[in-house]
Amino acid sequence: MNVRRADIGGVSVPVDHLIGGEWVGSDETFETRSPLDWDAGPLAHVARGDAATAEAAVNAAAAGFEVWGSFSPVQRAEVMHRLADLIDENADEIALAETLDMAFLQESMRLRLVGRGALNFRTYADLIVAHEEREWDAKNLHNWVQRMPAGPAVVITPWNAPFMLSTWKLAPALAAGNSVIHKPAEWSPLSAALLAELTVEAGFPAGAYNLVQGIGEEVGAALVSNPRVRRITFTGSPATAKHIGRAAADNIVPFTAELGGKGPLVVFADSDLDAAAHRAAWQFDDSGQVCLAGTRLLVEASVRDEFMERFDAHADALVLGDSRESTTQIAPMVHPEHRDAVHGFVERARANGDRIVRGGWAHEDSLHYEPTLIEPRSNESEVVQQEIFGPVLTLQTFDDEADAIRLANSTAYGLSAIVFTGSRERAERVGRSLRAGLVWVNTFLVRDLTAPFGGCGISGIGREGGDHALEFHADLKTLMILDDSCD
Ligand code: NAD
Repeated sequence: MNVRRADIGGVSVPVDHLIGGEWVGSDETFETRSPLDWDAGPLAHVARGDAATAEAAVNAAAAGFEVWGSFSPVQRAEVMHRLADLIDENADEIALAETLDMAFLQESMRLRLVGRGALNFRTYADLIVAHEEREWDAKNLHNWVQRMPAGPAVVITPWNAPFMLSTWKLAPALAAGNSVIHKPAEWSPLSAALLAELTVEAGFPAGAYNLVQGIGEEVGAALVSNPRVRRITFTGSPATAKHIGRAAADNIVPFTAELGGKGPLVVFADSDLDAAAHRAAWQFDDSGQVCLAGTRLLVEASVRDEFMERFDAHADALVLGDSRESTTQIAPMVHPEHRDAVHGFVERARANGDRIVRGGWAHEDSLHYEPTLIEPRSNESEVVQQEIFGPVLTLQTFDDEADAIRLANSTAYGLSAIVFTGSRERAERVGRSLRAGLVWVNTFLVRDLTAPFGGCGISGIGREGGDHALEFHADLKTLMILDDSCD
């Protein structure tokens, strides 16, 4: 098959679209650069899809749906398990391409996130096979609930953790029997191309799995406005979600959105303060480009100084460096534009009278932004209320449990929250009072993939995870047969 490829640190990556089982180019391209060596020039010139590309992809997905949607759950699961095995076999290449493309820590990718990508496909393959249709007798009727595949699904993903997040969204759509058109982010398009290539090897029928590269406002907007699309699932910013939601409404298409966060990390005086401070300093992980991060540190006033002493020790020990080095803990930021946007928040905070306690400056020899802590002048400060999506935390104190809950629930977001306490009763009481889709107590990030995942408020619409995503991708049908009416 004729496909343009780029050499990414020795890994050969396709840079065209995959449409209807064929690699297809575009007249235009866009460049992707490595945050590890920005001035070295483009890593690759990637096909820049347009309205015609979107139309072709939706047509291919509609044809692919006729085949993939008619596969039994067991047949779908077989192909998905093959894909999961191929992901594991290609972990080193995927990890390297992702690291060069968007600076994710290479070792963490190789050992953790690529495997999680494979697990996402295995989990949904197993769930779809295990699913039993609900069946019951009532009102002289025998009733069944059938999950019908809905049709072509558009899957739009962001630049942070691109491989893992893409697999998390693609797996349930495919397990449900929908064909997919994946549009990855233009700042990190490469791991999606490797994944698409593996789908061909795994044996997905032509058109079941399509990849379209390009700019969100161009090909992304054309995809979500196409009336033949029957599901749209999006992870990204609230601003983009508004555009996509309007397009979905125009065509009456179900739409889920996993959006930004501004999670609190609440530390009660009765907690293991060192564990809490360690976890708090680790919110600088991935240079803070993590939707789930607990970026608002809320600390009980009586232990503020002791907490800060420990926090400083842990934050001072963080190693900033090149994402390819196994000793590096904090990677550079994804793009100079994003680094500058993060610095803009800090500069406005300074002008607003918020106190910069640590950091507050950009490195000159790399795309790192120094891990930053700000004590805001008030809870209304922009740095408290808006997602920054960089290595910038705020520190506030509270007097009692009610005050902690009030502050924790005081933004328009509601994706996640982290609580540290030594009291089980408090853990449940506070956990139940927080307005967030995910609450961790004395831990972070670990969760069962069958549990619901998503946010309240402007953090999102709908839930992913387990059966929640499978139901979203299905059209439910209730089938009723009158008792004793046929043999
Ligand atoms: P973004 O909204 O700018 O872009 C996300 C995707 O949407 C990209 O692929 C982009 O090309 C596409 N897009 C942009 N405009 C479009 C349009 N008009 N029509 C269709 N597609 C369009 O977000 P980003 O900067 O890539 O990602 C960062 C955001 O994602 C942060 O807010 C972060 O919190 C959020 N995020 C949320 C989760 C979650 O699970 N809740 C996970 C990761 C990231």
